[in-house]
Amino acid sequence: MAVSELLSPAEFLELRAAYRTFIDEHIVPVEETLLREDDAADELLVQLRRRAKTEALWAPHLPPDAGGTGRGFLAYAHLNEEIGRVSWAQYVFNCQAPDAGNGEILHQFGTDEQKERWLKPLVDGDARSFFSMTEPDVSGADPTGLRTTAVLDGDEWVINGRKWFSSGAEGALFGIVMAVTEPAAEPRRRMSQIIVPADAPGVTIEPVPTLGHRGHGWTTHCEVTYDDVRVPAENLLGERGAGFLIAQKRLGPGRIHHVMRWLGQMQRAFELMCTRALEREAFGGPLAEKQTVQNWIADCAAEIQACRLLTLDAAHKIDEERDARVEISVLKFFAADVLSRVIDRAVQVHGALGLTDRSPLSHMYSLARGAHIYDGPDEVHRMVVSRRILETFASGDVWRFS
Ligand SMILES: Cc1cc2nc3c(=O)[nH]c(=O)nc-3n(C[C@H](O)[C@H](O)[C@H](O)COP(=O)(O)OP(=O)(O)OC[C@H]3O[C@@H](n4cnc5c(N)ncnc54)[C@H](O)[C@@H]3O)c2cc1C
Repeated sequence: MAVSELLSPAEFLELRAAYRTFIDEHIVPVEETLLREDDAADELLVQLRRRAKTEALWAPHLPPDAGGTGRGFLAYAHLNEEIGRVSWAQYVFNCQAPDAGNGEILHQFGTDEQKERWLKPLVDGDARSFFSMTEPDVSGADPTGLRTTAVLDGDEWVINGRKWFSSGAEGALFGIVMAVTEPAAEPRRRMSQIIVPADAPGVTIEPVPTLGHRGHGWTTHCEVTYDDVRVPAENLLGERGAGFLIAQKRLGPGRIHHVMRWLGQMQRAFELMCTRALEREAFGGPLAEKQTVQNWIADCAAEIQACRLLTLDAAHKIDEERDARVEISVLKFFAADVLSRVIDRAVQVHGALGLTDRSPLSHMYSLARGAHIYDGPDEVHRMVVSRRILETFASGDVWRFS
């Protein structure tokens, strides 16, 4: 879907500006309070969400037929350059991970009943969800080895297993759980996705304090235990054995969602760095006059723009329903490196200030580390890219970006 199909360029710029203004006027000034992740921060978030919904700045990742205000992937990439600037904004506009990805697969694979019961409250902002795939006992990078099982007993699935890093599970209404339902099938057909209410008997949720989060509500990363958990057979999402395929459908776009937001983080760190370099004096002049700082600024500008163009290219291909697997993997590991580097340089230019809660950089820095791991570690994405390229050459063709 092209931006122009639904909005003129001028209307789109206006919409982007509306997100920017909302963030600058309502979120940035209360950032220090939100960072505390306590009850007062929660209350503030409720108010901000209400205001964002009233202003129709809401669920921009989903198309209107799913209840969102989305305009396609490319348009969403542009909006995220604003939304990503402040880590709380995705939640304020109801497009936060993992609900965004869960909303997309419920929209794509859910039955009408599942959409009504689980998707609608997500889109309306009345509930949150979690995605429960990774397990502490086996490699998350290679999910073919997951062990959690779901066995059909009459008209109920009985689920047993232990997951962790189920982000946002604390306080969620439900989770989408990856479980082995076809143990004898080939590795990529062994798993299914099943919707599990968070309050089902046998579900235990325990937040695990993690770098960048103080452990409260939607930002928690939780260990979730499933002990003889029974849910109706109709809670199966999609077909039996299609769990891996659906996960790929979810994680591909999900990875770009992350990178889109990282662009906002990069840009903000860059702006902070340039402003500070001009203001701060040392050794007889502003930091901006030191050549090392000038090199950092030039390198950051080039790297951020490279990430932007890779993102827009991948988003455009997804909108055109073209295969973008290599593009997404290239983007994921390349942008994670740029994100870390840009924020790190911005911290360095700020000196000690960059490490305090008086600058947003310290929180941005701690969040950026996970970018190299979640939704596939850097090394796995590099493996995917080189495998695809080498397979093409091995078959006698030449690989190139198109
Ligand atoms: C902030 C955050 C949020 C997350 N949210 C969720 C969530 O909501 N739901 C969910 O299910 N999971 C979630 N995860 C889990 C995440 O998807 C996994 O951590 C990730 O897939 C890696 O799995 P692992 O941690 O088990 O690492 P492992 O699989 O144990 O890998 C460890 C390391 O081994 C190396 N490695 C692995 N394979 C290769 C290879 N082929 N070549 C070279 N090196 C390799 C990499 O350096 C990797 O970091 C989250 C993780 C983080 C950090």
